[in-house]
Amino acid sequence: MNSATQARPSLVEMFSNRQSRMGIFFFLVMLSFHIGALQIFNFQWSWFAFGIFFISYVMKIVGVTMGYHRYFAHRSFKTSRFFQFIMALAGSSAIQGGVLWWAGHHRGHHHHSDEEEDLHSPVTHSIFHSHLGWMWARDCFKPIKYKLLDFARFPEIRFLNKNYVLLMIIQGLSFYLLGEYLGQAYPLLQTSGWQVFVWGFLFATVWTWHITFSINSICHLFGSKRYNSHDESRNNWLFAILAFGEGWHNNHHKYGWSARNGFFWWEWDPIYYMLKVLEKLGIVWDLRTPSPAQLVDINS
Ligand SMILES: [Zn+2]
Ligand SMILES: [Zn+2]
Repeated sequence: MNSATQARPSLVEMFSNRQSRMGIFFFLVMLSFHIGALQIFNFQWSWFAFGIFFISYVMKIVGVTMGYHRYFAHRSFKTSRFFQFIMALAGSSAIQGGVLWWAGHHRGHHHHSDEEEDLHSPVTHSIFHSHLGWMWARDCFKPIKYKLLDFARFPEIRFLNKNYVLLMIIQGLSFYLLGEYLGQAYPLLQTSGWQVFVWGFLFATVWTWHITFSINSICHLFGSKRYNSHDESRNNWLFAILAFGEGWHNNHHKYGWSARNGFFWWEWDPIYYMLKVLEKLGIVWDLRTPSPAQLVDINS
């Protein structure tokens, strides 16, 4: 029975079921972050606050798109155990659940893209469900079908995967303490713990959420289709800019194993450019990319 045909559970059932409790927890965390992020309007605009936000946004989006997505979910390049850990840690900062959970769900998305089993398809569900609602539904917390056995063998990755709530608390505290320190050590910045907490932690997290969640929702509805990928994935230039190359989603669904999502010079893909630099430095290697013949083969 799929989620659309399930009877609505009673309140008692909801709280006695672990999967439902997880959905409620995710809902409350996300609601709190949204309310907290609105507090940016309580602080006077400053370039410093914007800079803290921007640095945090880059850390979160690179962690989740290079790390969680292109590396852990798709294995599109290779790296050392140390840098693998760094990517999992940076991805955790985006507060989108544990790395094994996230990447396992994402492998399921590619196996069943825009079919009934796809948990966040805007084609078989509503756009709201594909964007946010699926994370509050109990189906989201059922045992994952596409387990990441390839990465679950690393104890440090299992630790990060399990303790994502603890990491969230440490991150929030770190932003607050950084602001307190900078406010006292450099009074000209006119900052405080709360300012850095709100701009760097709450607002940057909410911003990054909606950018990355739009790949699931908007990029399966709006944009162009170059390839026959057997789903409704689209290339969307706006989200390619905002999500550092992830908006070339039809390209990605065609060749999910590729380390590059922008296939031509005009398709802006900063994550791939970063990977090329990291490759030159010897930090990553064996980047997998489609051949020129595959790129122009739009019907295979
Ligand atoms: Zn997709
Ligand atoms: Zn993917």
